[in-house]
Amino acid sequence: MEVFTNYSMNPACSEFESLERLDQLMRQQNCIKKAYDDYRTLYCLSRQLNETKDIGEILERLLSIVAEIVNFSACALFLKESLSDDFYLYEQCRLDARLLKELDIVERQGFLHWVCQENRITILPDMNEGLGNLSLLLIPLSSGKKTMGVLAVFVELWYDRLTPAQNDLLSLLGSQAAMAIENAKLYQDMALQHRVLSSMKNFLTNIMESMADALWAVDSSNKIILFNQQTEKLFGITQVEAMGNDYHQLFPKSFCDFLDKLLGKVFHSSRAVEEEFEYVREAEKVIPLSVQLSLLQDKHNSDSGVIIVCRDVSERNELVNLRRIDQLKDEFLSAVSHELRTPLTAIKSFTEILLNYSDNDPKAQKEFLSIIDRETDRLVELINDLLDISKIEQEGFSMNMEIIKLDEIVTQSVTAVQALAKEKDIEITSELCSDLNQVVADKHRLVQVFINILGNGIKFSPEHSTIRIFTEKSVGHRKNDTGDYVRVGIADQGIGIPEEMQRIIFQKFKQVADHHKERPQGTGLGLAICKRIIEQFGGEIWVESEVGKGSTFYFTIPLAK
Ligand code: ADP
Repeated sequence: MEVFTNYSMNPACSEFESLERLDQLMRQQNCIKKAYDDYRTLYCLSRQLNETKDIGEILERLLSIVAEIVNFSACALFLKESLSDDFYLYEQCRLDARLLKELDIVERQGFLHWVCQENRITILPDMNEGLGNLSLLLIPLSSGKKTMGVLAVFVELWYDRLTPAQNDLLSLLGSQAAMAIENAKLYQDMALQHRVLSSMKNFLTNIMESMADALWAVDSSNKIILFNQQTEKLFGITQVEAMGNDYHQLFPKSFCDFLDKLLGKVFHSSRAVEEEFEYVREAEKVIPLSVQLSLLQDKHNSDSGVIIVCRDVSERNELVNLRRIDQLKDEFLSAVSHELRTPLTAIKSFTEILLNYSDNDPKAQKEFLSIIDRETDRLVELINDLLDISKIEQEGFSMNMEIIKLDEIVTQSVTAVQALAKEKDIEITSELCSDLNQVVADKHRLVQVFINILGNGIKFSPEHSTIRIFTEKSVGHRKNDTGDYVRVGIADQGIGIPEEMQRIIFQKFKQVADHHKERPQGTGLGLAICKRIIEQFGGEIWVESEVGKGSTFYFTIPLAK
């Protein structure tokens, strides 16, 4: 437009110059028009071919455009294998056996490779005249340096040439078709990848949701990135509430502190860690959890978060407890049968001896009968102790707790064992604090404890020794000692108890082997009964002892307020 305006405003030009100039301008204008037309054609081709992502449809559109440029009777689209230089026949149109055979020969002779290499439209004339004047037009489908394939078109060309316009247009078509096919292939690959990824995601989600354990994960900034249904159920937190939030905002502080500690361990050791935690849910409900943490690594192998698996182990713990109880029961039964067998064997043997005894020796007979009598007493004592302990251990066992005076209990107990002490000339003394005299306990059971400990003291002390009973304010032994207890001590000057046995003697049937070299005395149940009784009072029992010097048995009982 501007060009013409300039010309008309230049009156100084000669007529000849003006005509030449006009001609030049007309040529320029034609060039511009052609460029514009080319650009339009390119735009239209590109639009038509790129509108679809289906290679079959691209081919259809390609052929309809080719049909507008040349008169063709059949065609085939060869695509290049992505991993090799080979071509494969992707689609064909109106090819009969004769044309197919021709294409096969062309392919084998390497024409497709050559056309792509040269990136040039090529016409192969009907050399053998077997195609009925059909020539084969090979259009390379290349975009940039990338070759997608070759479009082979059987055309009716009377002379084996294309006009320059046809050639340009078909070249353009080849490059646009290559781009469209490349896009379609990329799209198909992406769609396939997407399908694979989403089916993998579904598969993993199904596994995750069908797990019996609570499984969740946090990223490196403690934000929750995974939360399965079991986690929702276990903690009573929904996925919506959890996802994307810092776990410190969701869980109780004690659990967060525990997780912080475990996270530190996992990152420090780069290994999975597992620990147990007692999780308190609302209404004081405690859930024993086994919590396992393992590192989550991204594709560069750097730590991107942590996977947390929480398992409710209440049932497992219960099972362990049941097994332990079962084992204890077995141990108890075998100990009971052993303890019963000893006196019974003695009774049976001496009864048999007496039955078959022919000598009329009253002294020997009396000796045998006294053994039978002693063993029967042991049997009775054992059975009584067994009945007693099983009664104390029964669920719901209650005692007659009342405020009682300690000095009265001590007097009653000492009186009960006095005869025994006298036999060994053992003196029993007591130093009781008057302000620690009122206690809360079951009167008869407390006497039972005193008699048992005093009886043991007499049994394991030498003649002419002393047993001292004393009381003091209970301080220091109990973890949460409030000072509201009285500590009773019973100290003897006996044989003492080795350190490794000092805790064990409070278990059923446990005796210090050295104390009973000849044969077991007592039932081995006395201290176990004492422990149960003192614990029922809310106190504790223990012993401090030195072998050869003596033992002091201590127990605590609550003071009356
Ligand atoms: P028993 O005295 O009937 O065997 P206990 O449960 O009362 O059963 O005592 C368990 C064991 O503890 C005793 O067999 C003995 O080995 C040891 N024992 C208890 N009291 C004393 C003590 N005062 N001195 C030394 N050993 C003791």
